Amino acid sequence: MKYCRFQLNGQAHYGLVESVAGREAILRILLTAPEDSDGDVEGLRTRRIEPIALEEAELLPPVRPSKIVCVGRNYREHAAELGHEVPTEPLLFLKPNSALLAPGGVVRRPKISQRVDYEGELCVVIGKTCYHLTDDEDVRPYILGYTCLNDVTTRDLQVKDGQWTRAKSFDTFCPVGPVVADGLDPWAGVGVETRVNGVVKQSGNTRDFIFPLDVVIRHTAQVMTLFPGDLIATGTPQGVGPLVAGDVVEVSVEGIGTLRNSVVDE
Ligand code: ZN
Repeated sequence: MKYCRFQLNGQAHYGLVESVAGREAILRILLTAPEDSDGDVEGLRTRRIEPIALEEAELLPPVRPSKIVCVGRNYREHAAELGHEVPTEPLLFLKPNSALLAPGGVVRRPKISQRVDYEGELCVVIGKTCYHLTDDEDVRPYILGYTCLNDVTTRDLQVKDGQWTRAKSFDTFCPVGPVVADGLDPWAGVGVETRVNGVVKQSGNTRDFIFPLDVVIRHTAQVMTLFPGDLIATGTPQGVGPLVAGDVVEVSVEGIGTLRNSVVDE
């Protein structure tokens, strides 16, 4: 199952994404928001529309989260490249919803930063309300699917501030999409790749997570209630680097697709 959110005749809809003659297209809209399905997207009622090629659709962020939780330093080599020790438990921080950016949207580099970095990440979409899981409880029923996320960061302000809220929170700093997909298994290993202007900058695999998803979700749900539609960005592999005006940055996750955004100076 793959779905997106898109704009059609001035209205936002969720669309089922299906493969037609080797191309992805929206053939049906979902009459209920997937995050209201209690994890059963397949059972939702749909309505047929004139097919729209996914690449031609006016895409929106595919989710409307109540919060965006992120994991810092979840790949050993990325922790090392920034000169950090490997953490002993998941390191959590938040991005605000106001930072969300649609696939194809424009990342704006704020004037007060000299260094804006991409961070390509696999992102979990929560499907069911989740709080205080027991140690042996399976986390998979709480996962609606997965999407791509770019955790855009002002690296200079992150260092200057000593904490990360400002560095991670500028408007447009959370591109997400293009679709939510459920046909992948991050425990077995899923490729996460970031390209800038077509050049591969990050090439990681979720099998190298320091903390696997069950640990991350259990750890997060010990603190806060996760609601359907909430996002958990699972950390970035090694190879982070700067973006400048005119760049096109792409985050591809195996089994999901490619999240593409351009960059301008504010
Ligand atoms: Zn990150």
